[in-house]
This record gives sequence, structure tokens and C-alpha cells, in this order.
Amino acid sequence: MRLITRPALKRIAVFFLLLGVVVVGCQCSMIRMPSKSFSGPLPALSPPQEAFSAELRQHVEKLAGEIGERNVYLPKKLTAAADYIESTLSAAGHTVARQSYPAGGESCDNLEVEVLGSVWPDEIVVIGAHYDSVVGSPGADDNASGVAALLALAHRPELQKPGRTLRFVAFVNEEPPFFQTEQMGSLVYARRCRERGERIVAMLSLESLGYYQAAEGSQKYPFPIGVFYPSRGDFVAFVGRTKDRALVRRCVKQFREQAQFPSEGGALPGALPGIGWSDHWAFWQVDYPAVMATDTAPFRSRHYHTDNDTPDKLDYDRFARVIDGLASVIEDLVAR
Ligand SMILES: [Zn+2]
Repeated sequence: MRLITRPALKRIAVFFLLLGVVVVGCQCSMIRMPSKSFSGPLPALSPPQEAFSAELRQHVEKLAGEIGERNVYLPKKLTAAADYIESTLSAAGHTVARQSYPAGGESCDNLEVEVLGSVWPDEIVVIGAHYDSVVGSPGADDNASGVAALLALAHRPELQKPGRTLRFVAFVNEEPPFFQTEQMGSLVYARRCRERGERIVAMLSLESLGYYQAAEGSQKYPFPIGVFYPSRGDFVAFVGRTKDRALVRRCVKQFREQAQFPSEGGALPGALPGIGWSDHWAFWQVDYPAVMATDTAPFRSRHYHTDNDTPDKLDYDRFARVIDGLASVIEDLVAR
């Protein structure tokens, strides 16, 4: 004799799963973050932020507009993107190391800039963004925006004399077919760091940072974490595994203290969809602490991985505010 039907059992199981997530989430700070997210109307852009907005647009238009889709199937475009990144970083006074390795029958490059720490040179903070785009997409948000952020941050005056060593790295081959394989650029890079015994104390992945929507319901989440977060896609998110909690919280705290822009944070199970979907995942594989700063990409943008992910879809003024906040997050990370 069966007292409870199978569908009823399923509903009860889902209820307890949700309840469990709520209890665990609230108790072990996976979801609770320091300070309060900014809310209300955004203040006018400051003149430096206006300049950043224009600069970010220029980088995105170059990478996703003029160059367009860039990956191993279009090797000339991939090289053109790498050349643009190298020349922009060089013009800002940096020395760029091109680290080549073979993938998909092509020679592919990670591009690295290092600003040596003046106090703790052996402690390294890595800021990274992938510059390839998925097949069939010009990749304006994913991830010309992350590269634009990297290029804009690399010449911020307050980041030129760090206490810890600061690296800016543009990664190749984040997208399929290399995604989470041995030939993913960031995994090649992270393994190299581990083999050389380098002490990376924090890695921040800049992944899709230019897309913002103010409408109710514009933000989606992997089940079931939407219970805890806003339904409007107008914020920047800091995302890591539960064991990256200290780093996630530090980023969120610093961002909230400095930036007048909505922000959310989560130190969540790495197995949840989306949590590991960028270059920070590569650093997890060799046991470095790593988090992602993101607009949440597929959970917000309907243009994700399509030919509509074009430069005109991004909100450069909001993007500039986010970069301003990220600069102070990085300034804090390199100060130990
Ligand atoms: Zn992507």
C-alpha cells in the first residue's frame, strides 16, 4: 500500500531541497555579503568616468565591431585581436609577454603584463579576461567587454605601484571547443604558474561586464538561487566557490564601499550551472583562489553566444561605473 503518491513525494523533496538551500545559504554566508548594495538613481558620471565610458566603447567597437568573431577557426582575426591588446598595453607603458602554445592547428597566445610588487613581490594578484569569441558571435559582451575592462584597468594610475605583484593577462581559447579542456588558455597559464611555484593569492576573471537591464524580471538564475537575488539585471556580480568565500566577500565589501552601483556576491557550490563558466575555473583546477566579476551573461543577456552580441547592445555608462569600482577592488587586493 502506498500512502504518498510519487508526484507528491517529488514536491516534498523539492520543498526540503529549497528549505535546505535557504538554511545553509543564510547560515554559512554563501549568500550573505558585507555592507549593502547601492540602490536608487545612479549619480551623474564624473568627468573621468565619462572618459572611461568612451574608452570602453572604443575597445569593444574595435574587438567586436571592426575585428568581429575571433577564434582558432578565424586565426587572422584572433591574431588581430591579440595584436590590438598588445599594442594598447604597450602604449600604456607596459612590457607584454606573448606566451604561445599550439591548439587547433594554430599557434595561440596568452598575453601577460606584470607590475612588480614593491613590498610583497612574491604574492601575485592576477586580473584576467579571455579575448576569443564563440563561433558565430562577434562577442561584444562575451568577452570584448572583459578585455576592454582589462585594458582600461591596466593604465589606472593607482594600480601602477602595487604592494603585491599585479598581473594583467588576456587569455585565448576560453570558448568551445577548448572550454574546460587542457588547451583552454587560462588553464595553460594557471598550470604554468603552479609548475613555477608562483604564489597567486587572488585571481579575478573579468567575464561579460557590459550588459545591464533595469526591467523587472530581466535577471535569471540557476535553480534554486534566484530566491535570494534581485529580479532586475542592473548589478555587477562577484562569484566564486564556497571555498573562495573570503575573496568574494572582500571584493564585494570594497566595491560597495567605493562604488555607487548595485552589486551582488555569491560563494556558491562550484557545480551549480554558471558558477565556473569562465577563466577563474582554470585557477581552481590548480588550487588557487579565484572569483569572477560578471554581468551574469546567459542569465541576463538574450544575445549571449549569438550574432546579436554586438557593441550597440552594451551600456557603456554603467560599464564605466563598474570599472571604477573594480579599480578600487584591485587596489585593495594588491595592498594585502
Ligand atoms: Zn562565452
